[in-house]
Amino acid sequence: MQRNKLTFARETLQGLSVGDAIGEALNYRYEEVRERADFSLFRDGTVRYTDDTEMALAIFKVLELTQSIDEDSLALAFASRFRRDPDRGYGRMARRILREISQGEPWEPLSRNAFGGGSFGNGAAMRVAPIGSYFVEDLERVVEMAERSARVTHYHAEGIAGAIAVAVAVAVATELRDQTPRLVSTKIWDEVLVRTPSGEVRDRIGVARGLETAGAADAARRLGNGSQISAPDTVPFCLWSACRCLEDYREAILSTIEVGGDCDTNAAIVGAIVAAYRGEEAIPADWLRVREPLDFRL
Ligand SMILES: [Mg+2]
Repeated sequence: MQRNKLTFARETLQGLSVGDAIGEALNYRYEEVRERADFSLFRDGTVRYTDDTEMALAIFKVLELTQSIDEDSLALAFASRFRRDPDRGYGRMARRILREISQGEPWEPLSRNAFGGGSFGNGAAMRVAPIGSYFVEDLERVVEMAERSARVTHYHAEGIAGAIAVAVAVAVATELRDQTPRLVSTKIWDEVLVRTPSGEVRDRIGVARGLETAGAADAARRLGNGSQISAPDTVPFCLWSACRCLEDYREAILSTIEVGGDCDTNAAIVGAIVAAYRGEEAIPADWLRVREPLDFRL
């Protein structure tokens, strides 16, 4: 099972990183995303991924090496990758925390005191997906490990809730690969609403569930599109968007980018959930080909 769990986590990481890279590449003039989504003339490996993938790679490596998430190890993994490659679009607070960790400061006071009460940005949600696939057999463990992974940089309850919600959605999608999209999306909403702690993220997820017949632009107007870079402003829309297009990675990503906001992070979260359900084969071959190769070194 160890191998399977890692294989699932790797497929989810592929979905996350392709979403991240394509979302970043098409972020500019996002309204025209459908005309600009053809990458067939791009050379192999030339579309860069961003901090979402960088940090998800750190999570994946820590899982591979320790079969768990320990905050101290993860903090060092984040900091080590940041030191080697800082220009990946990290937010200002993330840069500050990671710089200080890499200078030997303990992560906890840095994270706890960020913004005077911990960050509730979307940065914990954007990277968490491999945890959902890895601990697919045990949702309680998914919640616990997602929380640990979040706390290293996002101490605020809403930042943590965003990570829990995404990890649970990914776990359900991984677990129910052989079930219909209809059943899977129902189960995603059920489990996410039960397991995400109370607060704004959870409240808005409740609203998102009721928007089944809305268009993407309308849903984004109601739920947010990540333009505030917060977990409540990002995660509910991403869950909605993924559940709407579980069977079609390409359409899920395009309709997510089309509403603007935090395009790379939104597409990373949506891409991870869809790939958790449909596997790596769901990712368009030309998108996978042009994304720069994943660098797994810690
Ligand atoms: Mg990013």
